[in-house]
Amino acid sequence: MIRVRFAPSPTGPLHIGGVRTALYNYFFAKKQGGKLILRIEDTDQTRFVEGAENYIQESLEWSGIHFDEGPKQGGEFGPYRQSERKNLYRQYADQLINDGYAYYAFDTAEELQKMRETEEAAGHKFQYDSKHRKNLKNSLRLSKDEVQDKLDAGKPYTIRLLFPEDEEIVFTDVIRGEVKVHSSNMDDKVIFKSDGMPTYHLANIVDDHLMEITHVIRGEEWLPSAPLHVLLYRYLGWDAPEFAHLPLLLKPDGKGKLSKRDGDRLGFPVFPMEWTDPKTGEISSGYKESGYFPEAFVNMLAFLGWNPGDEREIMSMDQMTEAFSLDRCSKSGARFDADKAKWFNHEYLQQYPMDKLVTAFKELLKKETIEEVCDDYIEKVIKAIKDRANFVQDLINSGLYFFKHPESYEEKAVKKHWRENSASHIGLIADEFEKCEGWNSENLEDIVKTQIEKHEMAGGKIFNGIRLLMVGASSGPHLFDILEILGKEESIIRLRNGIERLRSLNQ
Ligand code: GLU
Repeated sequence: MIRVRFAPSPTGPLHIGGVRTALYNYFFAKKQGGKLILRIEDTDQTRFVEGAENYIQESLEWSGIHFDEGPKQGGEFGPYRQSERKNLYRQYADQLINDGYAYYAFDTAEELQKMRETEEAAGHKFQYDSKHRKNLKNSLRLSKDEVQDKLDAGKPYTIRLLFPEDEEIVFTDVIRGEVKVHSSNMDDKVIFKSDGMPTYHLANIVDDHLMEITHVIRGEEWLPSAPLHVLLYRYLGWDAPEFAHLPLLLKPDGKGKLSKRDGDRLGFPVFPMEWTDPKTGEISSGYKESGYFPEAFVNMLAFLGWNPGDEREIMSMDQMTEAFSLDRCSKSGARFDADKAKWFNHEYLQQYPMDKLVTAFKELLKKETIEEVCDDYIEKVIKAIKDRANFVQDLINSGLYFFKHPESYEEKAVKKHWRENSASHIGLIADEFEKCEGWNSENLEDIVKTQIEKHEMAGGKIFNGIRLLMVGASSGPHLFDILEILGKEESIIRLRNGIERLRSLNQ
């Protein structure tokens, strides 16, 4: 049975790269009838951030990524929060010490700092490794009694993994192929901290083993830790899962990783939902609040680092699940493209179920204090203007004139289109409109064209003049569609009022 997990640390809001990792895990599990597990990795108490776990869960829910097991769902491998499993890890650290794969290190932070400074002053790189461990205060160098004395006296210590001195650590990554790292480049990583908690490395491996995880699919930033994880599996006598390290999400210019700090600096959100920093109160924008449909958001994200191998771009969760394979994930970083993100939303907006659009539109209309508009009318407006919109908010911004009279007339447009004879000519057309029985786009166009011919009016000026009185500007869809939607009474009111208001201009 395929079992995969998404294992975020609640140290802040979830970056969109994290959502993509969760998404690929979801596709991978669903496609093969496996299980997707959410595990909260909160062993680092110093990095705990209020509200982050909740934020992560809500963002994943909004994105439509559903888990089979997790802190909320429960499951037979729980608990799914590492802080609730903390008594479980120590035995494995002890096992590693007993088997000679790990050791106690009693060096204080100050001592290590001093050592680092001395080494660096002499032009050497310092890390806790085979070169240096012999000169440090640990159970490899101290006698058994000395170690026991320190333990009995309650001296603080960490537990470090003993890295082999001269060994090529090799493993296969599903996306990258064979990965080789020489052990001399690695330091003896802390696996258990002086505060009595395991580090990420130990807890992660123990939990992946106990939760029977078959594939570890995670971001490239974890690739340097993978050799250590491979060793931990070996030393604990367990089979390692398959590893797949996903490519980084890059800034739009391709220069470097898209980081949490990029926030709104680059003009687009890097978080799925809006996040308020509990300490500083600083607000970072989110895709949800920016008006993205969750379906468009995940579709856009999925294509950053993967493609289905054919021409398709607009794909539902089910279609992407069906088409997904790790073989089609790229090795190289994927550049974020803000315009493409908007394009995805535009495409979804065009095909979105009309009843849902009407509901979303009404919500935003309320903010403009416009209520009690019937759904049929809203639907007609949406149909007329949606092809130029990316977001529901764009529909409001560009279509507000359908719901209230123009408060003013754009100066530039007036200058360009309003002539001395506009009032009298458009007045004649208003008279004809009064007589119109079948108020629809085609009939209205006929009426206007007939009047233009009959009175030898300047056609362009008439069309633009009428538009100005309807919209207040020179924008909008086909003029006669606007008139049809506004209806006879409202259109004539706008013409008459507008003529009055603009008449003074030419006097
Ligand atoms: N807790 C790690 C993170 O925050 C998990 C990395 C992994 O998937 O192994 O990304």
